[in-house]
Amino acid sequence: MTDLQKYLRPEIVDMAPYKPGEQPGAAKVIKLNTNENPYPPSPKVREAILGATGRLERYPDPIATSFRMVASDVLGVTPDQILCGNGSDDILTILTRAFVGTGQKLRLPFPSYILYRTLAQIQGACYEEIRFTEDFQLSESFFEKSKELKLVFLPNPNSPSGTVIDHPTILRLASRLDCPIVVDEAYVDFAQENAIGLIAKDPRIMVTRTLSKSYGLAGLRFGYLVAHEQMIGYLRKVKDSYNTDSISIAGATAAMSDQAWLKDNVAKIVATRQRMIPRLKQLGFNVTASQANFVWATRSDQEVQPMYQKLKAQGILVRYMDYTQGTAGPWGDGLRISVGTDAEIDAMLMVLESIL
Ligand SMILES: *Cc1c(COP(=O)(O)O)cnc(C)c1O
Repeated sequence: MTDLQKYLRPEIVDMAPYKPGEQPGAAKVIKLNTNENPYPPSPKVREAILGATGRLERYPDPIATSFRMVASDVLGVTPDQILCGNGSDDILTILTRAFVGTGQKLRLPFPSYILYRTLAQIQGACYEEIRFTEDFQLSESFFEKSKELKLVFLPNPNSPSGTVIDHPTILRLASRLDCPIVVDEAYVDFAQENAIGLIAKDPRIMVTRTLSKSYGLAGLRFGYLVAHEQMIGYLRKVKDSYNTDSISIAGATAAMSDQAWLKDNVAKIVATRQRMIPRLKQLGFNVTASQANFVWATRSDQEVQPMYQKLKAQGILVRYMDYTQGTAGPWGDGLRISVGTDAEIDAMLMVLESIL
């Protein structure tokens, strides 16, 4: 028996691996478990990718200039305020590495995106999970100064709830804490407001975005950070030299250029979401007021885990999320259901009704 464990850093041996949602091979599954877009990306993306295949023997542009030019126009910031990455998960990794040293602290709300925990653990850092209030707002302890606190992750809209924290509250948080605040806007295109304007008010506020959800490009891997130019300069030193490739840069640039396609898909998804919420409520679920492309459905009268299993047996995959364990005490569990097409949601609701 070889014992390879002794060669690894103890943090890595001890940590639980991050578990992404299932990606079933079968094409027949109605997939409502990882908040992908049910609609394909702009046809311009495919065209641009095909164009990029003509120069694969060359390294890509290390700082994805073509993307940053287009994105800066869309967002109303300068190209030097944008840092691109291999999905926004890569950006979150860069931020953790840049700001939080071994033994230092990262703060996040609970329940929220599980990956933040994993990033802290890999870094050998501590993470402080602070419970949301019952209606998914920040509690007073979230604003408390704390020794060794080096970074805050605030998903907005939050996953799994889809709820949002308003901008005066984010500014108040930044003014109270002596560390950068990362607003993770993975789902913001489905929401009413975005936080880009806050960067000019407080340069410690940074915003992460992804093309995985609203742009329908989860398979491409492209995300970015918007921040103060000086911050971007430092963070470029931390990233891998070529953290976005020629294919993803070409595809992401084309997607960003087609804002009409984005708006059209977002409008369809928001309309389906608004139809879906009252119908889930009629079936007896508690549903939060989501501003994302998923809804968080919980129950007090019945267990939801068996519902997840029965849906799965009938070819409908939703995400069962169990937040009964956590350093901040038990929260509960629920079903996080991505907003699919109208037909997919109708099918899901029909099966759900039959198994209740
Ligand atoms: C999906 C998601 C991301 C990651 O997106 P990628 O760009 O695909 O890595 C980041 N944050 C939250 C809250 C997400 O739900």
